[in-house]
Amino acid sequence: MDTRFKWPDGKKVAVCITFDVDAESGWKFDPANQQRLSLLSSGAYGRRTGVPRILRLLAKHGIPAQFFVPGYTAEIDPALVKSIHDAGYPIGCHGYDHERTDELTYEQEDDILARSKDRLASITGIVPTGFRAPLWEITPQTLQLLDKHGFEYDSSLMGDDIPYCVQAGQKDLLELPVTWLLDDWEQFAYSAMPQTGYVIEEPEKVLRMWKAEFSALYEEGCYFMLTMHPEIIGRASRIAMLDQLVTFIKSHEGVWFCTPEMLAKSWRTGEFSTEKHPY
Ligand SMILES: [Zn+2]
Repeated sequence: MDTRFKWPDGKKVAVCITFDVDAESGWKFDPANQQRLSLLSSGAYGRRTGVPRILRLLAKHGIPAQFFVPGYTAEIDPALVKSIHDAGYPIGCHGYDHERTDELTYEQEDDILARSKDRLASITGIVPTGFRAPLWEITPQTLQLLDKHGFEYDSSLMGDDIPYCVQAGQKDLLELPVTWLLDDWEQFAYSAMPQTGYVIEEPEKVLRMWKAEFSALYEEGCYFMLTMHPEIIGRASRIAMLDQLVTFIKSHEGVWFCTPEMLAKSWRTGEFSTEKHPY
């Protein structure tokens, strides 16, 4: 048992099911990709087929989940964002064109944060307070700007397997850490051009791996933050695997299915406290 930390209401473990709706924005880093219709369609698959399949699975289980949506995805498919919002799932920022933060000037990053927040708020009526960096990379500049733009939490760092705080400008920012171990991209993503990924893993293998990590984190009373992409996890056999994983997690006592948004509120209202780390 990890004794540094206590979940509210005697819960034993927190489970966050999250989806980054990269879609076509994930390929915007290279202008040549804009002519690659097959590549772009693999992103569109996530919007057209993946998200509806995910929403059906979440409704079947009656569990909360959260989506992080780049501004560009929202720009080309506002109805998608509305469908996620109308189904009751919170939405956080994930860049505009899925930009790498480590390549941005202060002015560029400032502008991207403002535009991505505005784009989502114009559809949902809610100003996002959560951020997840594209490619999970943030810089000291990102932290300053997250403070400036009023973000309450980030979910990009990897420094623990319980929530912690980092200094962002004048305030503490809640960090909800992630790990490549619990990311579908690493397991399943593959593209020939541009070359991405190496081998497409079997759902059974990923189910074993994720169950093992959940079971160990459950024993320690930590948290289980799963990050997935609709264009990747949204394939039929993988949604069936996710269905089995959720069923397995639900069979445990004291599981708190929650969202980053719910964790931020719980932290803000003092229901749990965290350690502070530099990153
Ligand atoms: Zn992404």
